[in-house]
Amino acid sequence: MKKRILTGDRPTGRLHLGHYVGSLRNRVKLQDEYETFIMVADVQALTDNFEHPEKLKENIREVVLDYLSVGIDPAKATIFVQSKVPEIAELTVFYMNLVTLARLERNPTVKDEMKQKGYGSNVPLGFLAYPVSQAADITFLKADLVPVGVDQVPMIEQTREIVRKFNELYGKVLVEPEALVGEVERLPGTDGKAKMSKSLGNVINLADDSETIRKQVMGMFTDPNRVHGDEPGETEKNPVFVYLRAFADRGQSEKVAEIESKYKKGDIKDVEVKEFLVEVLEEFLEPIRKKREEFERQKDLVDRILEEGTRKAREEAKKTLAEVKQAMKIDYF
Ligand code: ATP
Ligand code: MG
Repeated sequence: MKKRILTGDRPTGRLHLGHYVGSLRNRVKLQDEYETFIMVADVQALTDNFEHPEKLKENIREVVLDYLSVGIDPAKATIFVQSKVPEIAELTVFYMNLVTLARLERNPTVKDEMKQKGYGSNVPLGFLAYPVSQAADITFLKADLVPVGVDQVPMIEQTREIVRKFNELYGKVLVEPEALVGEVERLPGTDGKAKMSKSLGNVINLADDSETIRKQVMGMFTDPNRVHGDEPGETEKNPVFVYLRAFADRGQSEKVAEIESKYKKGDIKDVEVKEFLVEVLEEFLEPIRKKREEFERQKDLVDRILEEGTRKAREEAKKTLAEVKQAMKIDYF
């Protein structure tokens, strides 16, 4: 039997380069080897977007089109919508008993995100508890592997703890998942912030047109300590170079190395490096954009994929929930 993957994205906007290196690339690579499930996490998106539920519908469609355009094949990967699998919510309620408030407050990603959103002590309970709901997402499918960006590793650890506690208390029903982090663990934003993120607006989207890409790249943050183009510069953390290393294809890698060594010596200007990055990104994104246009033209395609995927996911959810209830001895009649 094939091992299983579960992973997903929040429909809070289009997918960007960070999603690609953090998770999408691994999903495409592994969809033959693993039985793959991909969840559009609308319930999780609501935890910090509940005032704008109208955003979700359109973004669910955009996210699925992004999946297809990078090569996720719905014949191999099951794509589904979280809220359409209500068994996840039921599991979440049972798991809530297995987690303390103190443990949730210690989660470093939750801490960072709370700070970013300025919640302080007025954090919505749903937001604070989203790692518990994420444990339900992963475990209803008994997933073995979760391809994610490094910011999600604490969530997988939380899930593993819940699984161990459940299995210890009620019997071995659930599977402990492992995180699979992408080659680039966390792609920085165009503004130099540590993470490219939809809610920070520092992104290059997979579907962006050439003009937008150029504008974003030309406005990018580089080495903050380099004032003139003839000064030696830093390339390790410099986002322009991080992107170059992440997206240059084999034919371009020699030139990347050459530019990098020039930059370190102060022999090349920022704008010249950026011109090359525009070229690299254009080459990488153009085929994705073309495929997307093809899929956009197919009416009802996204709905059909989601209906079929959700039906399949729900069957699995019902099975797991029945096992969970039996183990907990609450399958009364
Ligand atoms: P939001 O700002 O709404 O949280 P996001 O940009 O963080 O959006 P998510 O939908 O939360 O995107 O993340 C989906 C997946 O993509 C997760 O596995 C996450 O780790 C990964 N990911 C997101 N941004 C990056 C990034 N900059 N680098 C690497 N992986 C990323
Ligand atoms: Mg996020």
